[in-house]
Amino acid sequence: MHLVMASPNRYIQEKDILKQAGEHIAPLGKKALLVGDNITLSVVRENLSQSLKESGIYFKEEIFGGEVTKKEGHRIAELAKTEGYDVIIGIGGGKAIDTAKAASAFGGFPLVTIPTIASNCAAWTPLSVFYNEDGVFEEYIVFQNSPALVLVDTRVIAESPVRYFNAGIADTVVKWYEARASAANREKNVPTQTALNIARECAETLFEYGVEASQDVKLRKPTKAVEKTTDCIIALSGMVGGLGSDNCRIAAAHAVHNGFTVLEETHHLFHGEKVAYGTLVQLFLENEEQEFYKLMEFLTKLEQPITLKQMGLENVSEDSLSKVAEASCAAEESIHNMPFKVTPDMVFDAIKKVDEIGNEYLLKSVCKN
Ligand SMILES: [Zn+2]
Repeated sequence: MHLVMASPNRYIQEKDILKQAGEHIAPLGKKALLVGDNITLSVVRENLSQSLKESGIYFKEEIFGGEVTKKEGHRIAELAKTEGYDVIIGIGGGKAIDTAKAASAFGGFPLVTIPTIASNCAAWTPLSVFYNEDGVFEEYIVFQNSPALVLVDTRVIAESPVRYFNAGIADTVVKWYEARASAANREKNVPTQTALNIARECAETLFEYGVEASQDVKLRKPTKAVEKTTDCIIALSGMVGGLGSDNCRIAAAHAVHNGFTVLEETHHLFHGEKVAYGTLVQLFLENEEQEFYKLMEFLTKLEQPITLKQMGLENVSEDSLSKVAEASCAAEESIHNMPFKVTPDMVFDAIKKVDEIGNEYLLKSVCKN
């Protein structure tokens, strides 16, 4: 088996699409349970509720518990069953959507996802990342069904906090480097090759429009650049995993991200921000000098960390960095998807070298201005 194409039935992206949400949701059911938190629900409430009413869809808002747990997924699935809902709508960033996905899978309901930020491909993919009630990672589960419908309103995305958007770009541009690395030593069937082409297209689009889109989000303008970038973050990156499957996985960049999570000082950073630094580490390990500098410039424009100081690790000890390097190379880590052997010593050196080059780079750009 080499082709696994997991994708939503429909993905619709348009400015103000929420004003027509009811038309698109009506074929799925007449009673909808909206899952989100106070903020995400308030972002969509006006347009979504108006449209659902116009289409004769009864709905209720349900605030989820804040963490993606199986217990919460089952609670919402039970509630939807007992109260006779037909469809579940997940509204938010990763966590609300992952919880709604779990509830839909556990209860057998069709699922609609409405992302309120463009920071990952959670709205597209058929999997949820589960945590225990203390917020510690438990496991991820790939469900049988993908969302029936993904509705992306680029006005909502353009009005979201730019820090999520920028971190989303960093966590998407990495797909190309990681997919390329993990596919390098494997036989590339047609779906894998297609996934790689999509990943490259995605990175090229982000290099061309990402910075402009980020500026537009700061100004809350839903421009063409925002649309293109949003498609990359949510849809194209979802397609890379959907088509490339086991041949196009994460590699060193995400392993280094995971390594950094052992240090308390990095916990204030977003996922994509730690991945940004991890991507530079990966390119350094690969000796891809030209790409390294191109990416460093791009990440700087997106206010992503390129030095340890910017990661909150100004005074980090060698001992702590060794722990990061060790954790990055743990047996189960995706760093072993790299086409060559990577050791903790190599990661340790690469982390320090990226910091050194990053500091020089920042100094030069200050002098230039
Ligand atoms: Zn990621």
